[in-house]
Amino acid sequence: MRAGAAWVRVRREKDLDGIDALVLPGGESTTISKGLARVGLYEPLESFVQSGRPVLGTCAGAVLLAREVENRPVRSLGAIDVVAIRNAYGTQVDSFSAIADADGRYPGLECVFIRAPRLRDPGSEVEVLARVDGWPVFVRQANVMATTFHPELTEDLRIHRTLIEQISV
Ligand code: GLN
Repeated sequence: MRAGAAWVRVRREKDLDGIDALVLPGGESTTISKGLARVGLYEPLESFVQSGRPVLGTCAGAVLLAREVENRPVRSLGAIDVVAIRNAYGTQVDSFSAIADADGRYPGLECVFIRAPRLRDPGSEVEVLARVDGWPVFVRQANVMATTFHPELTEDLRIHRTLIEQISV
């Protein structure tokens, strides 16, 4: 990836062997969820999260990491103590970009939202690293981070660099 790491696609359990960090990308969480169930990836992903290796979920990936999902629920991994409301920005404003109110490490963070979820009720273990209009858009719990926006669509590599920095060598 542009942030300097080699990458592989994870399609089945054995693809998780030997990887140091994982990105759950955007897409359609209902579709991704069906695929994960079909190839039996839920339990291996839960083990990956529990192994302490860094994980980043973006948009639909954030939905899949949440404790609970609203608005056509999907089975999620419960890795971040937060409720994800799917497609929370409605159909009228499907896509937009905004500069977040962010933690000191991420000034001027540009967030591109595409049929994004909203995150609500973060638990006490959840660090909110950036907000837009008061809503958490970038959160972390232990080794797991989630953004409701698409960091891969801007030139800003800070989110992916944070993921890579968390790999313990
Ligand atoms: N609306 C999608 C979902 O709920 C997420 C969209 C995206 O990943 N850009 O799964």
